[in-house]
Amino acid sequence: MGINIAIDGPAGAGKSTVAKIVSAELGYIYVDTGALYRTIALYITENNISDENIPMEIKKAAVSLKFADGTQRVFLSDRDVTGLIRTPEISMEASRTSAIPAIREYLFGTQQKISRENNVIMDGRDIGTVVLPEADVKIFLTATPEERANRRYKELSEKSDCPGYEEILRDIIERDYNDMNRPVAPLKQAHDAVLVDSTNLTLREVVDTIIKIINQKTGR
Ligand code: C5P
Repeated sequence: MGINIAIDGPAGAGKSTVAKIVSAELGYIYVDTGALYRTIALYITENNISDENIPMEIKKAAVSLKFADGTQRVFLSDRDVTGLIRTPEISMEASRTSAIPAIREYLFGTQQKISRENNVIMDGRDIGTVVLPEADVKIFLTATPEERANRRYKELSEKSDCPGYEEILRDIIERDYNDMNRPVAPLKQAHDAVLVDSTNLTLREVVDTIIKIINQKTGR
């Protein structure tokens, strides 16, 4: 059994940016579980699968993660889809379809297996509550919706087809609502998770705060 660190929180809280740096500095594997839900959403979209056929059809989706130099790549069969899953359409479809229990059950095993075999920092929505309830350290990373939209806007503003700030904020609020109000594995802070609000912190301050919490809890 590896050491397991769970980082949950809403879209755009900076989980993946922070988890990548923390895992590189501490020598853990970083697992972005959102990429798994996005890949299933891509599979459903590309194959035009209706909701009632999802439980049967997703069994054919061969989703796998590979790690090289601490970087995660996600595959559908032999196809590397790491870049393809980062569109606003796939974000929304992942948010919608991740509420379907058959999808969560299907991805549960994949996530548990990685955490058994490695020291991991895993980020998502239900890692501390459902996937790794016995995690050694649990962090709930959040920020206000406006600050999260701001960051996303800055990140996307270099691209030619960047959506406006208002549209990004609307998407974030809609995804928060979907993720927090679904009946299965909703986004919520685990009772034993440490809350980190990054609204007024720099990236380095968030990283240092989380490393300190991990070191305290794992006795390093
Ligand atoms: O983290 P990311 O924004 O890439 O996740 C995409 C979507 O996948 C989220 O909006 C959420 O609905 C879903 N998700 C989830 N459980 C996780 C990770 C992601 O439901 N552990």
